[in-house]
Amino acid sequence: MTEKRRKAIVRRRIFVALLVVILALLIALGYFIVTIINGSGSNTDSPSDVPISSDVAASNDSLPSGDTQSSKEETPSEPEIFVTPTGVELDANFGRLLLINGENALPDDYDTKVREYLVEIDPQYRNNNYVTQIHKDVYPYITAMVAAAQADGVNLKVWSPFRSYAIQNDLFKAQVNRVGGDEEKAATVVARPGTSEHNTGLCADFNMAGDAFESTPMYTWMCENAEDYGFILRYPKDKQHITGVIYESWHWRFVGINNAKLINELGVTLEEFIEMKKFDPAMDMYGDDSAAE
Ligand SMILES: [Zn+2]
Repeated sequence: MTEKRRKAIVRRRIFVALLVVILALLIALGYFIVTIINGSGSNTDSPSDVPISSDVAASNDSLPSGDTQSSKEETPSEPEIFVTPTGVELDANFGRLLLINGENALPDDYDTKVREYLVEIDPQYRNNNYVTQIHKDVYPYITAMVAAAQADGVNLKVWSPFRSYAIQNDLFKAQVNRVGGDEEKAATVVARPGTSEHNTGLCADFNMAGDAFESTPMYTWMCENAEDYGFILRYPKDKQHITGVIYESWHWRFVGINNAKLINELGVTLEEFIEMKKFDPAMDMYGDDSAAE
């Protein structure tokens, strides 16, 4: 029965061949369906890679923007040199963060040592012949600021910049008399000698020392532009509980351009800013080559 046996072998071979073809077709069909479900055009071997890799791309997209934001706070993105409208070049990274207040007095020898850092303010920038000096680190910034205001038609002038301990003592005693001998109360308006920023030459009162300054074009101009020259409103309206000093619209303190912008952006006082930066104000005592940061 070899004929019968040969036929059986052929039939089995045909059956196996058909089985292989059907299996191959099923595999091809399966692959085709999976490809369609996951979206066409993918040339990756495993279709399940597609959603994973797109997730990674999405999180990568969001990460760099987060990194950029945090690094913006640490490294200033502005150019280091700020050119004022009148053509003066100022270093935006230079700053002075010396903290002077009722709780942080200057050392006793400061009044003597600071003298070598003081320079005379040119009369075109001031309206007071009694006190006329400023710290030399501040001079280029304060004169550029007054010149820019005047170029804008605003009559900004330096009224009271550096004051010696002796002058500060006279002012303090006069204020004590004015409030009936209450030294604590007097100190919220006129600082005791050695606790006034005016003893450092790093600040100035502008045009006058009085509340009327708030309603002048000079005050408006300062609010809009002072930070470009490194000055901040040192004693804001609602911050007496932190500064210990009443609101003074006329008193502006040099801290540096980038520092001033950051302080305004954060809406904090110098006291709070120094705390946030973990900056040691003693490092910034006399200036010269001990610039902030
Ligand atoms: Zn002042």
